[in-house]
Amino acid sequence: MSKQLQAIRGMNDILPEQTPVWQYLEHQVRAVLATYGYQEVRIPVVESSALFSRGIGSGTDIVEKEMYTFDDRNGDKLSLRPEATAGVVRTGIEHGMFYNQVQRLWTSGPMFRYERPQKGRYRQFHQISVEAYGMDGPDIDAELIMMTARFWQRLGLSEHVTLELNTLGTLESRSRYRSALVEYLSDYAAELDEDSRRRLTINPLRILDSKDPNTRKIVAGAPALADYLDDESREHFAQLRQILDDAGIAYQVNPTLVRGLDYYGKTVFEWVTQSLGAQGTVCAGGRYDTLVELLGGKPVAAVGFAMGIERLVLLLETLQLVPEHVSNRVDVAVVAVGDGVLHKALPLVERLRDSLPTLKILTNCGGGGLKAQLKRADRSGAAYALILGEDELAAGVVTIKPLRTGEAQQPLSLADVVKFLQAQ
Ligand code: ATP
Ligand code: MG
Repeated sequence: MSKQLQAIRGMNDILPEQTPVWQYLEHQVRAVLATYGYQEVRIPVVESSALFSRGIGSGTDIVEKEMYTFDDRNGDKLSLRPEATAGVVRTGIEHGMFYNQVQRLWTSGPMFRYERPQKGRYRQFHQISVEAYGMDGPDIDAELIMMTARFWQRLGLSEHVTLELNTLGTLESRSRYRSALVEYLSDYAAELDEDSRRRLTINPLRILDSKDPNTRKIVAGAPALADYLDDESREHFAQLRQILDDAGIAYQVNPTLVRGLDYYGKTVFEWVTQSLGAQGTVCAGGRYDTLVELLGGKPVAAVGFAMGIERLVLLLETLQLVPEHVSNRVDVAVVAVGDGVLHKALPLVERLRDSLPTLKILTNCGGGGLKAQLKRADRSGAAYALILGEDELAAGVVTIKPLRTGEAQQPLSLADVVKFLQAQ
């Protein structure tokens, strides 16, 4: 026998019993986004590899080790998107969306990174990505962060996530800092972990968030980015903090928060939870004022963030914060017993749907005896079974049987069934 075909490692099926939580989460987030005037944009999953190496940075982990890149039949180098921002910027430039206007945009869907699969880290994962263009002040940074706080509030997560904040300064101040950092770290090069040693020349700022204990000790004595900040970034950060303070949004300034993508400058932030183990960042973002120009547009200020849907779903489930109504449970199960009864029952159920358009009604198709059908009705989670047999058809009634209470079943006309169900 041939080998059973299987999904690719790290790429998960999201099964019917899991999708209600996904839909709930996505629905809540979309509803909040709409109230802040964010508009959805849908962009391709595949782009030119050059977009990502130029946008995200060729020295980053993502581009260096994690991208799914291939030649198409034409010989063009393409990549599955590892994140959405570069694609959204490409879209905005291509369609003239940044010219003399601000944009508040969001997009969502699968992202692909060749990482070691583990809890909260997959090779195909999903993000909701939110981006604001054409606004350079700390006000929009603050509004974005307030909006994320509202997501958590809506989802009941507020007490389970904390906000970490930092500023990376402008490109110039960062490159002055970079030199100082490399000079300091070079003295300890032999003691650094292997990844950090490699990053010393390609992406030294990333060494700041190394998880290696020995590297961390060395990093503790390194020059601080804060001491190299330019006045403009310092002022931007101070104002952001002031707005957040006034709004009562708690945060922790984390001077080693640097983020894994080259395009960030000034504000960076992460929402972190202690409830998911090592993969604790559920939402991360910051400002990327240089990205549009880097990808060929006119300079346009930009700030945004991405949320990992798998991690948020995992968090809601772990903390048992999924509301009871979020399930595949149907309201009513239709049981039709006897020769030809279902043929008559189907149009009847359509009339029921006309009168009760939000009700979830599951009709037993494919036959079976009363007992077997009632068993299926019970498994569907329905509160009521509507039983139709030859007797009911002859009498012009439907038997309604409560499945979750001990109440007795009763025959009702279709009009009374509608009234009965409306009253529930
Ligand atoms: P991490 O430090 O956890 O690798 P990152 O800095 O690479 O995260 P971003 O590129 O900022 O992550 O993506 C934003 C969010 O997307 C993360 O905070 C996380 O919630 C989620 N995410 C990133 N990579 C993965 C992955 N491989 N699997 C599942 N979720 C992910
Ligand atoms: Mg990563």
